[in-house]
Amino acid sequence: MSGHHKWEDIKRRSSTVLMCAGCQRSPRVTHGEYVEGSGYRSADAYVWSEEGTLDRASGWYLCDACYIRYGMPVLDGERWTATPANLYALGIVV
Ligand SMILES: [Zn+2]
Repeated sequence: MSGHHKWEDIKRRSSTVLMCAGCQRSPRVTHGEYVEGSGYRSADAYVWSEEGTLDRASGWYLCDACYIRYGMPVLDGERWTATPANLYALGIVV
């Protein structure tokens, strides 16, 4: 289970497929436990609306475990999102 992605792969990413960039698991796996009782119809819908690290252009986010594993990245008082550039800075994208 590698956390490394190539720039070429990023260009092919579509935001219609949400995925944790760190562990490459789907919202159903990473956020499934939050969906029940949340009012969202699916884990994808939950992540789209509630996951603060989601980069809506690429569909990538970091799940809680990966966000911690990569040192809980922050940007100068701004919300960190899993953009290709930010993933590159963490070494997730090479
Ligand atoms: Zn993850």
